[in-house]
Amino acid sequence: MNHLTNKIAIVTGGARGIGKAIVIKLASLGCAVAFNYSKSKVEALALQQAIENKEVRCEASCVDIKDFHAVKEWITRVRESFGGVDILINNAGIIVDKALMLMGEDDWRGVVDTNLHGMFNASRACIVPMMKQKCGHIINISSVSGIIGLPRQTNYSASKGGMNAFTKALAKEVAAYNIRVNAVAPGFIETEILAGFNEEQKRQIVEMIPLGRIGSPEDVANCVKFLLSENAEYITGQIIQVDGGLAIR
Ligand code: NDP
Repeated sequence: MNHLTNKIAIVTGGARGIGKAIVIKLASLGCAVAFNYSKSKVEALALQQAIENKEVRCEASCVDIKDFHAVKEWITRVRESFGGVDILINNAGIIVDKALMLMGEDDWRGVVDTNLHGMFNASRACIVPMMKQKCGHIINISSVSGIIGLPRQTNYSASKGGMNAFTKALAKEVAAYNIRVNAVAPGFIETEILAGFNEEQKRQIVEMIPLGRIGSPEDVANCVKFLLSENAEYITGQIIQVDGGLAIR
C-alpha cells in the first residue's frame, strides 16, 4: 500500500510512447487508470489487457482529445464508473514541424488544437470534481520546446509554452483547493515522435545532451511518479525539465 493505491488516474494519449510508460507506472503504484487513444486501438486494447492481467482496473477509450464535448462525456463516464478522478495527466500531443514560411493553417491548428486545447478540454472536465473533493493532481507533459523555442516548431513551441503558462496560472487558481498543478518538460525522448530522425541526426542530438543519451519514456514517468508522491507535497506551478541537461538555462 502507498498513498496512490486505489487512486483514480486519467491519462490522455496513453496507448504508446510516454503516455504508455505513465499508464504502466501509475498502474504499478496501484492506481486505477483510464486512458484515451485516437488511432492506436490495437496498442490501447493490448495495454488495457496487460494491466487488467495484473488485477488493476484499466479502461481504454477512443476519444479525440481535440473534441471538447467528447472529452467531457468520456471523463464524466470515467468518473461515474470508477468513482471519481484524483489524477489527470495531460500527455496527448503531436508535432508537425515546418518553417513558418511553409506552415499552413492546418499545420498550426492541428498542433495547437491537440496539445493546448486538448489539455484545456481534459482539465476543464476534471477541475470541478477535484475542487469539490478538495484534492487532486494535474500534470501536463509539455516540452523544452515551449521554454527555449525551437526552429521549425513555432506551432509546437507556442502550444507547449501555452501549456507551461496554463500550469502556472491554474496552480495559483486552485492551490487553495489542495490541487497541485505541475508540468514535466521533456527534451528528446525515444518514442515514435522521433521516428523522423535518422541515426546521424540522433547522434548529433546526443552530442547536445550533457548526460550523453536520449531519454526514455520511463525517465518521464519517473518524474511524474515523484510529482505525485508525498515527497512533492510542497511543489506546485513548476515546469520540471527531464532533458538530460539539454536546455539548462
Ligand atoms: P507519441 O507520438 O509516441 O505519442 C503521442 C500520443 O498522443 C499517442 O498516444 C497518441 O494517440 C496521442 N494523441 C495524439 N493525438 C491525439 C488525439 N487527437 N486524441 C487523442 N490522443 C492523441 O509521442 P510521445 O509519447 O513522444 O509524446 C507524448 C507527449 O510528450 C506529447 O505531448 C509530446 O509533445 C511530449 N513530448 C515528447 C518528446 C519526445 O521527444 N518524445 C519531447 C517533449 C515532449 P494515438 O496513437 O491513438 O493517436
